[in-house]
Amino acid sequence: MSDIPLLDATQAFLKQDHGQFINGKTKASGDSTFDVINPSTEAVIAKIHSATTQEVDAAIESSYQAFKGAWGKTSPYTRGVVLNKLADLIEQYGEEIAQLETLCSGKSIHLSRMFEVQQSAMFLRYFAGWSTKINGETMTPSFPSMQGEEYSAFTRREAIGVVAGILPWNFSVMIACWKIGAALCTGCTIVLKPSEFTPLTILRIAALAKEAGVPDGVLNIVNGKGDVGGQLIQHSKVRKVSFTGSVATGKKISATASADLTRCTLELGGKNTAAVLKDADIDRVVGGLFQLGYIHQGQVCAAPERVYVHSSRIDELTTKLAQKLSEAKIGSPLDESVYFGPLSNEPQFNKVCEYLEVAHQESRVLHGGKAIKGEGFFVEPTIVQASSVDETLMQEETFGPIISFMPYEDEEELIDLINNTPFGLSSSIWTNNLSQAMRMIPQIESGTVWVNMHSILDPSVPFGGTKQSGVGREFGREFINDYTEVKSVIMCY
Ligand code: NAD
Repeated sequence: MSDIPLLDATQAFLKQDHGQFINGKTKASGDSTFDVINPSTEAVIAKIHSATTQEVDAAIESSYQAFKGAWGKTSPYTRGVVLNKLADLIEQYGEEIAQLETLCSGKSIHLSRMFEVQQSAMFLRYFAGWSTKINGETMTPSFPSMQGEEYSAFTRREAIGVVAGILPWNFSVMIACWKIGAALCTGCTIVLKPSEFTPLTILRIAALAKEAGVPDGVLNIVNGKGDVGGQLIQHSKVRKVSFTGSVATGKKISATASADLTRCTLELGGKNTAAVLKDADIDRVVGGLFQLGYIHQGQVCAAPERVYVHSSRIDELTTKLAQKLSEAKIGSPLDESVYFGPLSNEPQFNKVCEYLEVAHQESRVLHGGKAIKGEGFFVEPTIVQASSVDETLMQEETFGPIISFMPYEDEEELIDLINNTPFGLSSSIWTNNLSQAMRMIPQIESGTVWVNMHSILDPSVPFGGTKQSGVGREFGREFINDYTEVKSVIMCY
């Protein structure tokens, strides 16, 4: 097989001059530019103008005016209609969006179609449904009634205002849609700062939002590196920061935001665990780890990176997984027969290569373990066997296609091993022993525990981390509190 042909629309979009999307218009005027690199070929595919200080200010001001004006006056029903229309347009232009995202991120074209298009549309539709269902409560105060007066109280859930959304590079459209959907359905407006590695596709989404009827200023995009993000979160008109990215950046953002008492939710990294119990169906575990551990070359925040396996099953599991990995094709992510593409960018490639070195020094490499020579940021999907939980690959997030396996003997030891990490994003238990799974779930320190699955998100189920993996939850009904303020109204009559 070979690469799918690029659509005319994809090629035309790449040739445009790119920068910001502010108050309904594209702008590409700043002197400072940066390159967008195709991680599969290392070719420069576009240049982006970084937002100037004035452009960041203009974006926030236009979001503020839209919050006070057009969007503030838009009915909840219409907000939902507009989000549904955006979801429709993302599907309508899905192939163009998928191609652009694969070119920027190296994600296989199948994954771009599934996550950046279909899942993005699905999450937007979920949030669209919430727009008419955000309500307060009524209460009856117990104040004394001296002259027959009565009291009643109610709460209003009011949109918080301008949100700054700061994005990572691994799912740049889908994660953007989580933040757009949550902000717009609650009546907030949003300024997004995409990752400098994947700044392109979201500009196409912004144009579709305008076509869907999102009023100018409700959704703005400013591009650039960390300094642009820093300017956004320090602005006095930004009332909430929604950040997804690394723990190190999250801590800096949290410190800056809290200095001004700006609300801040943080979706950060993890060192996620899969626990394979003695009775597990090993073929099912192999399928699950292959699909969900190595998906997008392991560049998934919730993906399992360390697997504790009952000692009686570890050889069977690693042997079968190695066999499955050796059958999967590595190559161009635009080739539909390919399963593993490149890592998304050069710093990420260098980081994973360093962890592969560490794997050879500290642990036992059972499969893969090398970078692939030639153009592009390709590495082999890797299986490592660890003998101690203190080994680097059992503790640090690689965010790459390296899964470390370690044997355990009993349940008490297993719980200690699972919780032996500063992170707490996700875990999974693989078993048909329901009693054991139910006993373990309350003892596991992580935001999500899956049973016989891993990494799969649904908009109805809250998602977020404990410990150093973050603060706050996206989806479910949990997101509503973070995008709204409660106003209490007390009446005497
Ligand atoms: P990163 O922290 O390097 O960058 C994230 C974003 O922050 C980028 O847009 C970057 O430009 C911006 N930024 C950097 N410094 C900043 C500063 N001082 N002020 C404001 N903005 C700043 O993360 P990344 O490498 O893009 O993403 C990978 C990380 O994201 C991994 O650790 C992964 O686990 C995590 N992640 C978490 C989730 C989740 O939902 N928990 C989802 C995806 C990725």
